[in-house]
Amino acid sequence: MTVLMGPGGTLEMATTALERGCESVFVGPKGWSRRPASDELADPEIKDLIDWSAGRGKDIRIAINVMPEPDEISLFLSKVERYAGWGAGGVMICDPGCIALVRRHFPQLDIHVSVTAGIFNIRDIHFYRDLGANIVVIPYRWGVEELEEIRDQAGMQLEAFLFQATKRGRICPGRCYSSSYFHIAHKRDDEGKDQHIGSASRGGSCHRICRAAWNLTVGEAPSPDTPDLKATPELLLWEMPAYVSLGVNRFKIPGRERSPELVGDICAFYRRVLDHVLAGHSDVSPFAAEWAWVRERWASERGRRDESRITVAAQ
Ligand code: SF4
Repeated sequence: MTVLMGPGGTLEMATTALERGCESVFVGPKGWSRRPASDELADPEIKDLIDWSAGRGKDIRIAINVMPEPDEISLFLSKVERYAGWGAGGVMICDPGCIALVRRHFPQLDIHVSVTAGIFNIRDIHFYRDLGANIVVIPYRWGVEELEEIRDQAGMQLEAFLFQATKRGRICPGRCYSSSYFHIAHKRDDEGKDQHIGSASRGGSCHRICRAAWNLTVGEAPSPDTPDLKATPELLLWEMPAYVSLGVNRFKIPGRERSPELVGDICAFYRRVLDHVLAGHSDVSPFAAEWAWVRERWASERGRRDESRITVAAQ
């Protein structure tokens, strides 16, 4: 079965994604999923969503993809136990030790290797497979060529984001800590989790400082090496037939920080494209005009969110 999974930054967004064509939605518990608290759910909301989805034959996945501190492991495990008991279908994890721990305690759960594990090659994929993960999220700096390279040997289900970094190879999700150097604060929540505001890998959120307007100088002169990272990732279209034929069986729509209205439109769009491709059509050009429309709205909302995050880091 091929699954279309949407984002659930809020309850409204999650139910919208499921009602507009997704079989599955991923959500993040507050302080545990690399996003600002406004785009994460409190545990009672996660339970409500799982109950709501189960009655409609839908599935909820939990992104719990930060790296727990030494004193946070038992809290991490108790949260996974809670979600598994409520009926979540799987968890997305990036910490290798936690992947092995969850597999040992919860053999029934799907374990996705989060894109923030920073996979580079087939050896990395095998490392996580051997720890017990059964789904690998393909890095969004990869394309069809890299998928062709690894698909026969992966030994895991393949999950692909429906967007791709346009500056391919420059950004590796999960392996950048630069935001932490600009602005960080600690905040213990009611359960005892230390949320490092400014460090996504440790429970806070990234300030997106790579997307600021950088001006490097050498002495007084502008540097010719000023980085140009400020490109908005693009939603995919043309690659979808190849991805399906290469065995990708889970497609993930990003956007927990977007508006529920835009997420609903994107989910409905990809539902139609995926059904078209799964019906055996390899020509997706009939969707090109609508694709341009959702891409433009996506880029516009993303730009506004990035600017607000960069401004916080600069304060
Ligand atoms: S600063 Fe940029 S590259 Fe680094 S984690 Fe944040 S968004 Fe990713």
